[in-house]
Amino acid sequence: MEKKQFQAESKRLLDLMINSIYTHREIFLRELISNASDAIDKIYYKALTDENLTFNKDDYYIKVSYDKENRILKISDTGIGMTKEELEENLGVIAKSGSFTFKKENELKDGFDIIGQFGVGFYSAFMVADKVTVITKALGSDEAFKWEATGADGYIIEPCEKEAVGTDIILKIKENTEDEKFDEYLEEYRLRAIIKKYSDFIRYPIKMDVTKR
Ligand code: ADP
Ligand code: MG
Repeated sequence: MEKKQFQAESKRLLDLMINSIYTHREIFLRELISNASDAIDKIYYKALTDENLTFNKDDYYIKVSYDKENRILKISDTGIGMTKEELEENLGVIAKSGSFTFKKENELKDGFDIIGQFGVGFYSAFMVADKVTVITKALGSDEAFKWEATGADGYIIEPCEKEAVGTDIILKIKENTEDEKFDEYLEEYRLRAIIKKYSDFIRYPIKMDVTKR
């Protein structure tokens, strides 16, 4: 299968994310949850004017799940999803990102705190994951697609199976190294704390399987 290349600016930002020694990596979860919430908002607003679409509150939520053994963290939503073209446009180019204007490179290097203040968006997933897979099905479509990248060297898009409309973002969490720990992003208490800290205001339910005590 053909590997598609990221647009040049995307590649630069991705490289920075992948190699970041940034201490506030946890914000990746804020970014992914906010994207999930935006995707549900899009259905909500569409339903206001589209009489064929009703927004049943109970059908719309965000789910965070994890599989420690396989180092998988998944953020799923029942939002509007993406078509193949939208996947290409939205995840292949940074220019699409509404909240992040790509700063001069030195600015990024010196003051990486810019990440804490502004949204850096989807690519922040690469601060904690060495592989990111997106499985998505757009509202009104009966085809689903998978987008996947393991780094800045490109991404693939291919057809896949997905029952319901919405998006799953699947992160393969990096292995711990001597200086850097990533295991915490597979720990329930830590994930709960991050969600509480950054996503308390999200107006859709954020579900997570909890261990019974
Ligand atoms: P921003 O949210 O500022 O637009 P991001 O980098 O976070 O930038 O996301 C880029 C784009 O990818 C979004 O604008 C949206 O179109 C698309 N996208 C990302 N995550 C999702 C999702 N869960 N569901 C639908 N579309 C998404
Ligand atoms: Mg975003």
